[in-house]
Amino acid sequence: MLIQHTSRGLYCPAGDFYIDPWLPVPRAVITHAHGDHARFGCDSYLCAAPGVEPLSLRVEGIIQLIGYGEQISINGVRVSLHPAGHVLGSAQVRVEVKGEVWVVSGDYKREPDPTCAPFEVVSCHTFITESTFGLPVYRWPAGERVITQIYEWWSENAAAGRPSVLLSYVMGKSQRILAMLGEYDELPGPVYAHGALQQMNEAYRRAGIALMDAPNPVSVANNTDVFTTALVLAPPSAQSSSWLKRFKGCAVGRVSGWMRIRGRRRRLALDKGFVMSDHADWPALLTTISETGAERVIATHGNGSALTRFLVEQGVCAEAWTDKEWPEGEEQVQ
Ligand SMILES: [Zn+2]
Ligand SMILES: [Zn+2]
Repeated sequence: MLIQHTSRGLYCPAGDFYIDPWLPVPRAVITHAHGDHARFGCDSYLCAAPGVEPLSLRVEGIIQLIGYGEQISINGVRVSLHPAGHVLGSAQVRVEVKGEVWVVSGDYKREPDPTCAPFEVVSCHTFITESTFGLPVYRWPAGERVITQIYEWWSENAAAGRPSVLLSYVMGKSQRILAMLGEYDELPGPVYAHGALQQMNEAYRRAGIALMDAPNPVSVANNTDVFTTALVLAPPSAQSSSWLKRFKGCAVGRVSGWMRIRGRRRRLALDKGFVMSDHADWPALLTTISETGAERVIATHGNGSALTRFLVEQGVCAEAWTDKEWPEGEEQVQ
């Protein structure tokens, strides 16, 4: 086994390094800076060069960078990182020993995203794929369509003098929305971003991603009338905080793949759920698995066993490495 599932995370014994370990280790290769992948306390982190700005916000220690596609040797193991299309700097990890190739996908998506490099198919013998949304019910509408829905929802609210508060993850989703809205010539009103988003927006800008101005609403003096036509981006946790009170009569929407499930929308008491994810949906998982040409597939995160059961029925050699030890996916931690 080139890569093993251990109590600290995915481990490559030949190279003596971990991939996205969830406990401190001497040497970590990091697929991207989300909290369930980049954890505090390792001595050194290797990441793809475009991911250094967000990663430096999340961890301390030595950060080593390599460009996408650049090959290095770690204790004789050939290692390279390839775009995963998930968030800025996200990478798949390709590991090669004596001609045998394994690829660890990290989180990925196949949809275009103006804030990160598009997913690259990497041929391999064994593909370790994420399966956060590994059930046939998870199918995403095109991102462009969802941005149009957000734009229309915001326009209707603005016309009625109602602030629009849009909940989305701090890293990746919020910047993707800002970048996509930035392509409109005219917007229904001003855009603000919760304080928790400011550092990450800045990190993206430093990395050269064009994001429109989105000041912290707290910086606005007493005149809260300006919010009546505004779109305010905020992390999901803001929904239950007193912060929300300054936007009188606001409509609250949320952007997430989980919004595909009506019960979740209802339980969260949202005015609107927008189905947009930075993860592969069911058809994209199947397409990607087939395109890698892998003889063996290992699923991690989420509904791994549902995905691998389906693959085994299709004659693919597949297993799931999902168990209680695996930290929960984006819903809890991103
Ligand atoms: Zn992620
Ligand atoms: Zn993840």
